[in-house]
Amino acid sequence: MLPLLTLATTGQVWLDWSPPPHSAARTRGQETENGMLDALVIAPHPDDAELGMGGTIALMLAKGMKVGVLDLTDGEPTPRGTPEIRARETAAASAALGLSWRENLGLPNRRLRSTLAARAALAGVIRQTRPRWLFSPHWVDAHPDHVAATRLVDAARFWAKLTKCDLPGEPWHPARIYHYPCVHLKVVVNPAFVVDISSTWDLKARSLACYASQFPPAGSSPSAPSVLDRVDAAASWWGAMIGVARGEPFTAREPIGLRGFGDLF
Ligand SMILES: [Zn+2]
Repeated sequence: MLPLLTLATTGQVWLDWSPPPHSAARTRGQETENGMLDALVIAPHPDDAELGMGGTIALMLAKGMKVGVLDLTDGEPTPRGTPEIRARETAAASAALGLSWRENLGLPNRRLRSTLAARAALAGVIRQTRPRWLFSPHWVDAHPDHVAATRLVDAARFWAKLTKCDLPGEPWHPARIYHYPCVHLKVVVNPAFVVDISSTWDLKARSLACYASQFPPAGSSPSAPSVLDRVDAAASWWGAMIGVARGEPFTAREPIGLRGFGDLF
């Protein structure tokens, strides 16, 4: 575990926040000329960003947008993983998508909570990367870490705009939070919009294949689909809903504004 929030219990989290440490999963490159990202995708665990919106991430990057992924935890322990394996898989998946900015906040897996310390840490990243949009998990999920992540992102977005505080950087308020569905609850979300990822599906599939410790090629029984099979089927289903080969759904609690109708089906 990365020792990011060691002073969290002192009650001085505003002063004690420090930038996320380097890790094997951390990549940083062309995006930070002025510290700004167009979109910051916040994921409870490495692989959630790829599962939920890997095709959209690749699509935004192909359009020239600056996209970063912030994993909140290292996702370990898992039955077949280790922190080192997960870091290598995450780096490979990031390369498959073409990401140049990805970091890990080092919060505790399985015990993720929207604490004041975690809020300060995430708000600091938001102020330093200044994204126009945040992406976080859909607010209904069976995994407690995912639900906690959604609450944490909401709180950190609010804190990021505060003045007269000791958070790093200048106040910043991302214009919108959009949500990507995760896979731990067998419910069908009612999306606010579906993105056509037909052109980037191969990149999403390639990035998911990097997580060999998490997604074995076979299902839990000979007749059960694997995780990758289920993701494949879901992408085809959502694509069919908008008349394309593959799609990724998103939910939103705030109204979505349009400046035109150019990209609408
Ligand atoms: Zn997860």
